[in-house]
Amino acid sequence: MKSSIQTSNPVRIGMMSLGCPKTLVDSEVILGKLQGEAYTLVPSVADCDVALLNTCAFIEDAQQESLDKILELVALKKEKQIRALIVMGCLVQRFPKDLQEQLREVDAFIGSGDYAKIPEIVKKVTGGGKVFSVGRPGYLGNAGESRVALTPKHYRYLKISEGCDHVCTFCSIPSFRGKHRSRTSEDVLREAQSLVEAGAREIILTGQDTTYFGRDLTGRFLLPELVRELGELKGLGWLRILYAYPSCITRELMLAMRDVERVCPYLDMPLQHASDRMLGAMQRGITKRRTLDLIREFRATVPELGIRTTFIVGFPGETEQDFEELLDFMREIRFERLGLFTYSREEGTPSAGLPDQVPEKIKQERWHRAMELQQEISRANNAQLLGRKTEMILDEKHPDEENTWIGRTRWDAPDVDGNIFLKSSQALEAGAFYQAKITDTRDYDLVGEL
Ligand code: SF4
Repeated sequence: MKSSIQTSNPVRIGMMSLGCPKTLVDSEVILGKLQGEAYTLVPSVADCDVALLNTCAFIEDAQQESLDKILELVALKKEKQIRALIVMGCLVQRFPKDLQEQLREVDAFIGSGDYAKIPEIVKKVTGGGKVFSVGRPGYLGNAGESRVALTPKHYRYLKISEGCDHVCTFCSIPSFRGKHRSRTSEDVLREAQSLVEAGAREIILTGQDTTYFGRDLTGRFLLPELVRELGELKGLGWLRILYAYPSCITRELMLAMRDVERVCPYLDMPLQHASDRMLGAMQRGITKRRTLDLIREFRATVPELGIRTTFIVGFPGETEQDFEELLDFMREIRFERLGLFTYSREEGTPSAGLPDQVPEKIKQERWHRAMELQQEISRANNAQLLGRKTEMILDEKHPDEENTWIGRTRWDAPDVDGNIFLKSSQALEAGAFYQAKITDTRDYDLVGEL
């Protein structure tokens, strides 16, 4: 065992959190466990004693980004800019042995289910020890744990479940986040209350599949009831739901989103494709016909509903006809928000072994064609909002443009959707809600005035 690491007192902890909002919540809980005299949180992993890196592994690009970050931090450790490096999360849970063998400079590897051990692991590492702790995947957490905010305090993610029971053939997430496990409604409500008391005005529900909430504990989909209960929370402005699974959406959820005033009329529902041949091969458990009916019913039930979805192009066996069917579906639905991925052949997933893998060149060509179509649709959707008044939340002052503030409408989740740029010479407040009149529109963003 090498000698203990000469650290300042208290130990300076730096955190970098890659990937999705679920991992971000885990990172906040991890930092919550390192509060107290012994540790102090510093803004950058580039200048600290112990660097914590929470990784992502859902597709190849994300794995590469995580590996690049690890190597960057290993280089900083060799230059003694950081004293110790702890790598955790999805990449570790997915490739534990490979990482341990290939990255010996890393002082600790922690799987996505072992965060309760963080304090003892950091103590061991600062004492010069090496740790390898990879057990059951997926940390669920509870309301009793404190969190250190890694987002502006006015919007906070609330992880209501962990893992996933679906069997999408392109997806490796269940292999490193585990089976679906819900928290109890009481526990989620308690945490929501404490987030609001800590300054949250917007709470964003997250999980691999939020619509499956409660099913494992009660056999029923409890998200509609949870939304109604959260809607009663004093001090909460907006409630936003991410990661809805189409075949788990119920009439009750539509009615809850219609009736609960604080729920943003925003549905984040990854669909992945629109051709029945592809939906079948992906084992999405839903058809195009059923999806169309679902969207029509949702839009008829929830006024001003904005739908965000994601599609995969280039799935094995995808023909030009399948792709054209997807484009036609996009033209028909005219999604307000849309993300596009090229198929990533993930080791260990059923689709990785399928014949008729689509060449990269065709994947990229289809990605560009679909993005161009969505850009036109988004531009036209936004143009219809010109002159409209809309509620918005203010996130921050524009770093470069004078008298300009950056915010979001009810149809914009942080980081993945557009912004509204508010022109005002007044001293406004980040985290506050304002009424804005839309004075200009862009492909994905809006411009407004108070
Ligand atoms: S719903 Fe499908 S794509 Fe999403 S995490 Fe579960 S298996 Fe993966």
